[in-house]
Amino acid sequence: MDDCVFCKIISGEIPCAKIYEDDDVLAFLDISQTTKGHALVVSKKHYDNFLATPKEIMHKVMDVAQTIGQSQIRNLKASGVNILTNCYAAAGQTVMHFHVHVIPRYKNSDGLVIEFKENKLLGELSLPQIADSIKKNM
Ligand code: 5GP
Ligand code: ZN
Repeated sequence: MDDCVFCKIISGEIPCAKIYEDDDVLAFLDISQTTKGHALVVSKKHYDNFLATPKEIMHKVMDVAQTIGQSQIRNLKASGVNILTNCYAAAGQTVMHFHVHVIPRYKNSDGLVIEFKENKLLGELSLPQIADSIKKNM
């Protein structure tokens, strides 16, 4: 894709701090270091996001994300890792090329807050009904 910043990184047009590369996957440091070692794992072929990626490639990217997370714990002395992939702008995706964030966490000292709090504005919800809607045609 002509306009895609990650395609430009993959082709070498834009430099990156590379961590890993094979025929299908590239991993490099995120330019915005949310925490020290924040990495991105991307498919070499352009797919718009996780949901649009063939499973075989998605599995290869997740494999590399797991290995990098393990290295962040071992080599950067991280005490935890967040694995995150945003799909579509509504979910915060800004680069429309499939990528997985691997974000090392440092206990009580990295300043990053990721919280899943109950949304009181939604009121009473029937969880079985919602589950049924999601299950349709799976
Ligand atoms: P998203 O919000 O789409 O999930 O994440 C895109 C990420 O790509 C952001 O964290 C942003 O910092 C990173 N990013 C954007 N442009 C570049 C770049 O040119 N080089 C690198 N290494 N990361 C980038
Ligand atoms: Zn791309």
